[in-house]
Amino acid sequence: MTQEIGGFAALGLHPSIVAALTAIGYEEPSPIQAQAIPVILSGRDMIGQAQTGTGKTAAFALPLLTKIDASKREPQALILAPTRELALQVATAFESYSKQMPGLNVVAVYGGAPMGPQLKAIRQGAQVIVATPGRLVDHLRRDEKMLSTIQFLVLDEADEMLKLGFMDDLEVIFEAMPASRQSVLFSATLPHSIRAIAEKHLREPQHIKIASKTQTVTAIEQAHLMVHADQKHAAVLRLLEVEEFDALIGFVRTKQATLDLAAALEAKGYKAAALNGDIAQNQRERVIDSLKDGRLDIVIATDVAARGLDVPRITHVMNVDMPYDPESYVHRIGRTGRAGRTGRALLLVTPRERRMLQVIERVTGQKVGEVKLPNAQQVLDARIKKLTASLAPLVADAEATHGDLLDRLTADIGCSPRALAAALLRKATNGQALSLAEVEREQPLVPGGPRERSERSERGPRPEREGGRERRAPMPLAEGRARCRTALGARDGIAAKNLLGAILNEGGLAREAIGRIQVRESFSLVELPEDGLDRLLAKLKDTRVGGKPLKLRRYRED
Ligand code: AMP
Repeated sequence: MTQEIGGFAALGLHPSIVAALTAIGYEEPSPIQAQAIPVILSGRDMIGQAQTGTGKTAAFALPLLTKIDASKREPQALILAPTRELALQVATAFESYSKQMPGLNVVAVYGGAPMGPQLKAIRQGAQVIVATPGRLVDHLRRDEKMLSTIQFLVLDEADEMLKLGFMDDLEVIFEAMPASRQSVLFSATLPHSIRAIAEKHLREPQHIKIASKTQTVTAIEQAHLMVHADQKHAAVLRLLEVEEFDALIGFVRTKQATLDLAAALEAKGYKAAALNGDIAQNQRERVIDSLKDGRLDIVIATDVAARGLDVPRITHVMNVDMPYDPESYVHRIGRTGRAGRTGRALLLVTPRERRMLQVIERVTGQKVGEVKLPNAQQVLDARIKKLTASLAPLVADAEATHGDLLDRLTADIGCSPRALAAALLRKATNGQALSLAEVEREQPLVPGGPRERSERSERGPRPEREGGRERRAPMPLAEGRARCRTALGARDGIAAKNLLGAILNEGGLAREAIGRIQVRESFSLVELPEDGLDRLLAKLKDTRVGGKPLKLRRYRED
């Protein structure tokens, strides 16, 4: 809605960026964006205390894109990120926000990929460089002038960078940039080491933090579910099968997400609708009225559109996308437990958002316990329970009205009453899966689900299946290879490429030296050369991937 996009336009961002945000579907700035954007636009150095999930990437990307001169083909902004994964994510964000800025180029610079193409992109005049410190220093060793035109520096997740041991690299990078640059530092925590960096390298930085007051939400039972971003729809559908809700409101971040999820739910037969800032006011009111009187049971909304929503029927709030801050979480879940009733709030958390969950627990002063995705048996039990509840009231007088007809039909068809009842059930349930085998077959998710499979396909054939389940027996090893294990797995947000990048970078191996990488839910296996393995493992002793210690060990198969 124009008035809400005005939220971004009013901050003084370049019109082409505001246009890109409209296209992406952001409705209003998140709290960290509302505070940081004007400071960064004003040219001041800044320290922002914020973690993943608050919208911090856009908080620095949007003002920097406004300040960059896309007609000048030279590096102007440098963003340093602790991991290759985050560097890629930030680079992708810059690309999407600058979709309507012709001539603007972004390059991601990280280990585990050849240096040549990265260097070429920089030389060709990429204005934005998003880099991990280690790889950037490697580039600087070859070309010490590479950063001489940088005017804006962002240290993203600075505390993580220090934890990963990038302090010395950071010093080298600071030295290679003009002192006149503007510097912005984002960090979830501000330990002494970060303050020391700020003291030395930032000029009178303005400190921005989203204030957090403790708020209580006692009438609401809260739970969270760990899930990968690409499995959210499937997880929501599965949760809805077992949650006994009257009306439910689901929160997502963008207009498009409201439409996508509402459509997916409708396709499954739920009475669901989307509520977002693009929908005209009178139509929004109609949606809310429908939710009140039961013509709708589920509304998928953005925060803006759900403001002030008060529907006593709402028994459940589902945070499908993480809120930006604990206050907005408290606000969202306050949509249930109205008028003295109890409510239930569910929060989907992706591996990268774990920290936000802890912040929410701290601020609300309550533990948000974990629920697991319901398994096939639980889904089946819930379906049968619903079916029982819907049929039970019909039985009372049915025999009196239709008993004779049943006798006649069974005689005419020549079947037993059991056979006829079964046929009627099948018809009445529209072919819904109502046996364990059928439910198991239709369940798209296994722990570490589609993600694990897609990674395996990158790295080679998938293990054979046995009765529909993955056989966990390891694949035979090639000669001269040893299998190693790390406790990092898909649930830590680790992908095969992250392990590959870390081992290539820190181990100094050639790409061909690394064999198959299998990422499981709670661990991963990597095939490495037997020759010199102990030396290699010693080298990788302190390596971290995705912020966590890799701790690679020889894996004994027996
Ligand atoms: P970040 O904290 O930067 O990792 O951002 C978390 C997620 O929020 C990303 O998926 C962004 O695309 C999304 N996001 C950031 N700002 C907004 C906004 N103003 N409106 C909607 N989504 C946003």
